[in-house]
Order: sequence, then structure tokens, then C-alpha cells
Amino acid sequence: MKKQMLAVIACLAAGIMIASCSKNDKQQQVQPDPVSDEILAQINAYGLSTDNVRKTPDGYLVEGDILLTADQLKEGVNSTALRVGQVEQYRSSRLVTGLPRTITVKIVGLSAAFVAGVDTAIRRYNSLGLRITFQRITSGNAGITIEGFNQAPVNGYVSFASSGFPTSAGDPCPTIRLNYNAAAFGINPNVLFAGSMIQHEMGHCLGMHHTDYMDRSFSCGGARVREDITPQWIPGTPMGPDPDSWMLACSNGGNRPFNANDIIALRYLYR
Ligand SMILES: [Zn+2]
Repeated sequence: MKKQMLAVIACLAAGIMIASCSKNDKQQQVQPDPVSDEILAQINAYGLSTDNVRKTPDGYLVEGDILLTADQLKEGVNSTALRVGQVEQYRSSRLVTGLPRTITVKIVGLSAAFVAGVDTAIRRYNSLGLRITFQRITSGNAGITIEGFNQAPVNGYVSFASSGFPTSAGDPCPTIRLNYNAAAFGINPNVLFAGSMIQHEMGHCLGMHHTDYMDRSFSCGGARVREDITPQWIPGTPMGPDPDSWMLACSNGGNRPFNANDIIALRYLYR
């Protein structure tokens, strides 16, 4: 059983390796050793939760769906923390540069429902009047490629999706991965649910952290995580609570379009 579990973990790690921002075609053995204190300190310095960090052959999967390579962690970033209202915490590390800019998006090997989800997410971003716009293409190299993977739950945990942060060159992280296993999206998901999840992963590709990075109990349940960062309030924005940000760490399983504060934060960073 242990062997079987290791095999599952190896498959998981190999899958994540493909999703990584850096290229590495070699199959590697999964190292079962725990994540070192040094790496945890780097993840903390990045402004990300050090809970349940999963080591992969090519990086670290943090907060469930953000893949960071060891090189990215070593580089470190100066994060910008933005606060809108009482509960919305927006944070960005590296941003996409070279604006105004059109980012092409290609989806491969996934059903029409996912394609419709991508189009939904693109339409939502493009309606905001940002200096970044998205355009779906069906051939050639894309700025972001969205691809599927099939992974059953591991130890009761199922991964729906993963992506990463922008590269040191100021490009969006090039790959978003979606799990079409029946325990995750399945092959024919609800378009608005899939679209909202894709919209979330695209947010990471633009440099957005989880809105509730200081208190993941807000969307995921469980304990408060951290309160050691003083975010920068965006002047002139509403003070009242405004839940259901598209960048909450855990999905509500339904449709989650941009709320008013999401739009304020995105326009602050990209308009
Ligand atoms: Zn996320």
C-alpha cells in the first residue's frame, strides 16, 4: 500500500513538473524528505502560507494551486499588499510587464465545456478596460496554455487546478492545468464553475495572490493563518465587507465573477 501511495505521489509530482514554469524533461525520483526550514522561510518571505507545502521534483506547490520553482523562491520578490474593504486583501508579487499587452491563451485536450469556460474568463477580464487583454487562439504558441490532467484524489485530497506567478521576464506563468478526473471537474463541467476557476488561475498568472492570504479560514475553513502583514489600503475605496472575491483560496463550487473590489484591485495594478 505504501508502494502504491509512493507511485501515486510520483505521478502527481511528474504532472506538476510538466506544469512548472521552467523546462525539465527528465524524470526524477520524488524526494520524500520534508520541506526544509530554509524553503519554508523563502515561501513565507514570498508572502505565501507555509501550511501544507508539497514538494515536487521541480518546485513547491503552495496554498493548493500555486507552483513556485526553487529558483523563483531564491529570487524573492517585493510584494505589494493592497487592501480594499474590511475583508478583501489583494497582494501581488511580480507583475506582467510590457503594457499594453495582449496575452494569447490556448486550451488543449479539454472538452467544449472547458473551452466555453476559458471564453467566459477571457470575456470577464476584457470587460474591465485593463491594459492587459486576453485573446484565445487555437494554434501556434500561446502566452498561456491551458491543459488537462487526470488525477484521482490522493489521501482524500483532490487537486482541481494549478498555475504560477509571472516569470522574471515579466511574462505570465505559461501553463494552467485543470484536473478532469471525475473527482475534480470531470470531463464536462459546469461552464460558469470551470470559467470561474480558470479566471482564478489566470489571476495567479498575472501575479495575484489569494485574497484571503492572511486568513484562509475565510474561504477554506480551519484556522486563521497569519496576520503579520500590513497591507496598503487603496485610497477612496469602500470599507464594508464584500465577500466572494475571485481570488479566495478555496472555491465555493459555483460561479464567482469579479466583485467590485476585485475590479478596483485589478485596475489599480493593470490600468
Ligand atoms: Zn489559487
